[in-house]
Order: sequence, then structure tokens, then C-alpha cells
Amino acid sequence: MSTIEELKHIASGRVVENEPMVSYTTLGVGGPADYFVEVPTEDELSALMLYISEHELPWIVIGDGANLLVSDKGIRGIVIKLGGEFSSITVQGRRIVAGSAARISKVADAAASNNLSGLEGVGTVPGSVGGAIVMNAGTHRGYIDEVTEGIRAVTDKGEKIALSKDKCGFTYRNSRFQYDKSLIITYAVFKMKPGDGTAIASNLDAVRKHRAETQPQGKSAGCFFKNPTGLSAGKLIEGAGCKGMREGGAVVSEIHSNFIMNAHNATASDLFVLAEKVRKLVKDIQGIDLEYEVRRVGQW
Ligand SMILES: Cc1cc2nc3c(=O)[nH]c(=O)nc-3n(C[C@H](O)[C@H](O)[C@H](O)COP(=O)(O)OP(=O)(O)OC[C@H]3O[C@@H](n4cnc5c(N)ncnc54)[C@H](O)[C@@H]3O)c2cc1C
Repeated sequence: MSTIEELKHIASGRVVENEPMVSYTTLGVGGPADYFVEVPTEDELSALMLYISEHELPWIVIGDGANLLVSDKGIRGIVIKLGGEFSSITVQGRRIVAGSAARISKVADAAASNNLSGLEGVGTVPGSVGGAIVMNAGTHRGYIDEVTEGIRAVTDKGEKIALSKDKCGFTYRNSRFQYDKSLIITYAVFKMKPGDGTAIASNLDAVRKHRAETQPQGKSAGCFFKNPTGLSAGKLIEGAGCKGMREGGAVVSEIHSNFIMNAHNATASDLFVLAEKVRKLVKDIQGIDLEYEVRRVGQW
């Protein structure tokens, strides 16, 4: 059997070859993945990882692609996207068990409906539960690590494991899962506090409205660079005169300088070249090394 036939035999979700990644990233760029495999259950994910390990195939798992810069040449090997049971959200008293593919905003809404507080900070951020855990996503109102009790994962050998929060290595916009590439997060367990559901829901609405009004609209991955300790990457970029800078179809937003946008059919290369120019100017003028928040993946 060919690889694609074997993959179709293992996973009951969508399994295709040469799948363009453009529609799986909020930046709207990215060449084809050799194989794209949607996996709906933990058992299928275990079987897939066993197959990948036995055949020594390269792989990557993606969430909603809200923090990804995928290369124009695409991704060699297998792109895994979780679906099916991984979109579930289960409220158990003060705990919420959410599948990695669930939208974090939907989990925050479910928390509000059940008078549970703690996800207001991250519940306004685009993306999935899995992506939010990996990125330790959040806002000044709160980060996902603050309510995470633990996670479940499938290893690159197909084993199902559980990790408590102290094993997740959370720091600012970072977690163990950014350097330990052997794990696919399948579920997260959030320990919530009791709250007033109506107040939580209206707070989420207000912040979402505020973000929609104040953040640049269009194709982006949010902030391109992490804030250096005690500093604002956006202000550093603006101070270096980068606002409005262009490269091909990519532009540094006039509204928020840390947003590098796909304004006019940009390529991934346009976005990366522009980001590197911004980094160099910030280094030369402000003396600060900016660190990427956006994850650059694929064949560069
Ligand atoms: C308009 C806009 C505004 C934003 N504002 C914010 C903000 O205020 N705060 C903030 O923190 N972020 C923000 N972001 C960035 C983005 O929303 C977050 O980083 C988000 O958590 C990414 O989730 P995702 O599902 O899209 O992950 P992806 O971008 O798909 O993946 C991110 C990383 O996680 C890995 N990954 C994904 N799922 C899994 C899994 N199940 N197991 C293991 N690894 C996995 C991927 O391989 C990749 O390395 C913004 C983005 C946009 C587009």
C-alpha cells in the first residue's frame, strides 16, 4: 500500500495529499503539506503516531493556524489536525475538560454559561485549546496557565499520557510543548472559580468588541514578536520607524506595529523578509533583540 492508502486506513477523518496550507492559517499563506490528516479520536491518533514512528516520517500538529507562518514551499511529511471528539467541551462541577481542537473562545463561553470564571483573559484570543496551551496564550487579563490543572497527550510513540500543570513548563507566551516536539496535546483540564455568568459573558463581549475596534482587521497572526520583559514590542517597532513598512504584499500595520499583515496577496517569504527587516531596525536603533512569537514552520 502507498503512504496515502495506509494513512486513510488509519484515520477516518479527511486524508489528502498536497494540501495547500493557505486556508489553515490566519495569515493566509503557506504551500502544500505532503499529507494532511484529520484525526477524530484518541485511538486513531495513537495508531497514527505509531505508524509515523515506525516509518520515521516527519510530522507536525496544527491548531487553528492563528500563530503560524507556513513557508511557501509547504510542509514535508504529515500535517495532523485534530477534529471529532477533540472538539468536545465537558463541564464537571468546577472543572472543564476541553478537547484540543475546541475553540478557546467557545470554552470561555461554556464557562460563562456555567457561572465559572478564569478563562476571561484567554477567551478573547483566536485559536484552539491545544494552540493556546502550547503558546500559553492570553492577555493582560489572564493567561491560560492560570487555570490549567493539567493536560492529556499522545506521544510520538502512540502512548496516551497525562501531565500535571507543573510538568507543562509554562512561562510568558511559552510552554514545554514549544521545544518538546514529542507530544500532541489531546485534552486540557481547567480548574475554574465560581463566578457570575452574566457578568462574565458581558465582560467577554465587551473585550471582543474592543479588540475588533482597536486591532487591525484582515489577515494576520496577531503579534509577530514577543514583548521583551517590561517593554512593548509594538512601541519598539514604531520607535524604529517601521510603521507602514512594506515588502511585496506584506505590511507593518499602521494601527498596531507588532502586527505584520498579509495585506495584498503576500507570500510567506514577503512576511518573513519584512519581519527580519523590522528585527534588524529594532536592533540597530533600539538595541533590542526581538524574539518571534509567530511559529515559522515548513521548508524554508
Ligand atoms: C488577530 C489575532 C490576535 C491575536 N491575539 C493574541 C493575544 O491577544 N494573545 C495571545 O496569546 N495570542 C494572540 N494571537 C495568537 C494566537 O491566537 C495564539 O497563539 C493561539 O493560541 C494559537 O492557537 P492555534 O490553535 O491557532 O495554534 P496554531 O497557530 O495552529 O499552532 C501554534 C503552535 O501550537 C502547536 N500546536 C497546536 N495544536 C497542538 C496540539 N494539539 N498539540 C501540540 N502542539 C500543538 C503548533 O504546532 C504550533 O507550534 C492572536 C492571533 C490573531 C490572528
